[in-house]
Amino acid sequence: MLISPEVRTVLDHTAAPGDLFERVVPVALPMKARFRGLTVRETCLVKGPAGWAEFAPFTEYDVPEASRWLLAAVESAALPLPRPLRDRVLVNATIPAVPAHRVPAIAAHYPGVSAVKVKIAERGIASLDEDLARVAAVRRALPDAAVRCDANGAYTHDEAKTALTALARTGPLQYVEQPVPDVHGLARLREWVSIARLPVPIAADESIRKVSDPLSVAALGAADVIVVKAQPLGGIRAAASIIEAAGLPAVVSSALESSVGLAAGAALAAHLPLSSAGQGLLGPEPAAGLGTAALFAADVAAPGLRPQDGSLPLGRVEPDEDLLAAHAAGPERARFWTERLEACWTHVARGEDSGRAG
Ligand SMILES: [Mg+2]
Repeated sequence: MLISPEVRTVLDHTAAPGDLFERVVPVALPMKARFRGLTVRETCLVKGPAGWAEFAPFTEYDVPEASRWLLAAVESAALPLPRPLRDRVLVNATIPAVPAHRVPAIAAHYPGVSAVKVKIAERGIASLDEDLARVAAVRRALPDAAVRCDANGAYTHDEAKTALTALARTGPLQYVEQPVPDVHGLARLREWVSIARLPVPIAADESIRKVSDPLSVAALGAADVIVVKAQPLGGIRAAASIIEAAGLPAVVSSALESSVGLAAGAALAAHLPLSSAGQGLLGPEPAAGLGTAALFAADVAAPGLRPQDGSLPLGRVEPDEDLLAAHAAGPERARFWTERLEACWTHVARGEDSGRAG
């Protein structure tokens, strides 16, 4: 676990979460369509001396994994956002694994985007025909947007060969994200793609954020692009150091946070120099996967951090007290989140599996 020196200093001077967070507000936010198997996204907002932050590990994650997300919340609650190099960040549209006929209505939330990410493989190779129909519908609905697909590691090696070949026939692909589950599988598949001369770059997502060594993707030549999320990598500063060390083009994405957490992601995206960011593959300015507030039926801020003309503004987002109250988690779930925050704090404070970002 990489802990940036700035966050380490905060932890070294704070005895307990109550000393840093003056508010801890677990919320449950309804989604417009099922996404990542969720129809309701539970998350936890916290307020510290620097402002509001978000502790958003998915509910099934264990304490060691969720602890990295706590580091991100500590950073945003205690420290200023790093200096932006731009005043807006481009974002991609995100199309969940919906039937093709629902694509135009969802795409309509993202006018002017330069890229679109399409979720595929929800039922593995069994949903390939539906995936191809969805991708075709996306190309019709957003003809000027570069198309990315995200399989969330659902394929075997042979299934990925079949799926990537079929997807490539639908038109140009900017990349396919995590077609197979692990980093060695990605490296093997990327080698096959090269030999087969298939014009399909490979992106790594889970192989960056769910492994002990996020740099193994670069070391093994397992991907052309890395998808980087601030929260699961321990915050903006830790994520930026991983991107720099990996030396690969990076796409900053959300972890399905509320608008408060999305603002931290936007700060990371705007902090990356463009000269190294795209390196050709992603165009002059990579579109970040931070437009996901559009997938929510409710948010903690009004207006939420939703894309306008294909980009997001920068800066912290203040939650609205009425919305926090309206979407507060019930007592049992609130207890789950406060206990979880305490457990993760203990884990981090003891320095378990920790290291320092260089
Ligand atoms: Mg992904």
